Amino acid sequence: MKLRILGCSGGIGGMHLRTTSMLIDHDILIDAGTGVGDLSIAELAVIDHVFISHTHLDHIASLPLMLDTVADRRNKPLVVYGTEAVITILKNHIFNWSIWPDFSEVPSIDKPFLRYQAIAVQQPVSLGTRTITALPVEHTVPAVGYCIDSGTASLVFSGDTGCCNAFWRAVNRIPNLQHLIIECAFSNLEERLAVVSKHLCPRMLASELQKLEQDCEIHITHLKPGQIELTMEEIASCLGEFKPKMLQNNQVFEF
Ligand SMILES: [Zn+2]
Ligand SMILES: [Zn+2]
Repeated sequence: MKLRILGCSGGIGGMHLRTTSMLIDHDILIDAGTGVGDLSIAELAVIDHVFISHTHLDHIASLPLMLDTVADRRNKPLVVYGTEAVITILKNHIFNWSIWPDFSEVPSIDKPFLRYQAIAVQQPVSLGTRTITALPVEHTVPAVGYCIDSGTASLVFSGDTGCCNAFWRAVNRIPNLQHLIIECAFSNLEERLAVVSKHLCPRMLASELQKLEQDCEIHITHLKPGQIELTMEEIASCLGEFKPKMLQNNQVFEF
């Protein structure tokens, strides 16, 4: 399995900052932030599955636009996976005819461009040899992380989360864990903001990682533009023992 990072920043700006999205092989997206916009129309058209961690705009911004772009090139619906709560928010607040058309009934209810697929935490979804499982996390809106299992090894993506014991319990149960992509949206200077917005800062991440009982590579995502160097310095001093690396846009994981 090949997983490519299309966006891993907390914001946009300049030539290289894009918000969260990852492409698995050629046909699965995990989140659909602004990084999706770098794909060609041909690449967009062969994406069949989009798993949404939560409905904050930085994780779904490209979903309405990509649907519109590829609709006339596809002969089956794009399947959008999310918890019931996530799907309800997408229906009520995005694909509601006011912000964007309801593509689950366009061009017809029988042959729509979009199909919603409800998923539940800890219930694996198998797509060929690949298995994707939602993990519990703690954020200000209904949210999940994801475990992506290639059959050989697993990569966990936290999505957006604050402190969450249930997440670490789930991570510790994954037998073939190889990579952990975890957010650190704020620097220690903004710890208060991290707490109220249910994100992590280096100090919080250091104490969360004490709950990790697995040996795996740790990659930091969702750094705030303008605080990237500061936050990575704080991470090096708070949790250097874990040898965390900053996730890079266009980074490819093969596992
Ligand atoms: Zn969020
Ligand atoms: Zn976010």
